[in-house]
Amino acid sequence: MKKIIFLFVCLVIGSAIGHEETQSHEYRVYDETTPAHVREFYRVNHENQTLDFVLNKKQEYLPPCHIRMGIWDAIKHLDTFVDESDPDLDLPQSYHCYQTAEAIRRDGHPRWMILVGFIHDLGKMLQLFDEPQWAIVGDTFPVGCAFSDKIVFPEFFGNNSDLKKSVLQTKLGIYQEGCGWENVHFSWGHDEYLYQIVKDYLPEEAGYIIRYHSFYPGHHEGEYQYLMNDYDRAMLSWVQLFQKYDLYSKDPEPLDVVALKPYYEELVAEFFPEVFLW
Ligand code: FE
Ligand code: FE
Repeated sequence: MKKIIFLFVCLVIGSAIGHEETQSHEYRVYDETTPAHVREFYRVNHENQTLDFVLNKKQEYLPPCHIRMGIWDAIKHLDTFVDESDPDLDLPQSYHCYQTAEAIRRDGHPRWMILVGFIHDLGKMLQLFDEPQWAIVGDTFPVGCAFSDKIVFPEFFGNNSDLKKSVLQTKLGIYQEGCGWENVHFSWGHDEYLYQIVKDYLPEEAGYIIRYHSFYPGHHEGEYQYLMNDYDRAMLSWVQLFQKYDLYSKDPEPLDVVALKPYYEELVAEFFPEVFLW
């Protein structure tokens, strides 16, 4: 079985996101040692994320039209959400918002990027509409063309009905070479959903990070480059920069969320109206 391991000891993590203390931790280990619930998550995810499923979800949720609310309402919904696909984090997602944003802030990045750290997972409020976790979280991947074997647990695609449709299993499938990831349908989840909700309020780099932050086969494994265009090639490094903060800020380092909140209230108000459509 192919093992996908991010193994970074403290010095790598430290130089990446400014931590100085010495500690080691393996992130994103997907093999026989992965917790059973995470494996089960990906089994169901890979079986059900078909092109038809994705197209139906896009029709159901896009453009966003279900509910009017603000960023802080969404944060509240994430208080009770624990991501079943994540082998490295068992804290409520709202805490992960602060962890990611604070790591970005510590390194002196622009305010819009701190905000991206804070909101990047708010699409997980899809749980409010009773969506199952396999349709909200986990790594994303293109549908409508061949599944890369660099996607975590590729063996679980065995029960995906798209495997039986030969037109969807060629390298390009329904796409054209160099068409750009924006013209590709990705497995449905919190990335694309939130991107469509917030894109008009943020710089395009911010939107790009949100849209592809779970696309590890693309931004980490270098897969699906034949579907990229010049725009993707210019923007990809933003996602790669962000990914370090998303991942390596998951140490259980205590944060005083109450003390931090006023800073984030001001930041959110700088970019977003009080309520908008989700
Ligand atoms: Fe995410
Ligand atoms: Fe995240």
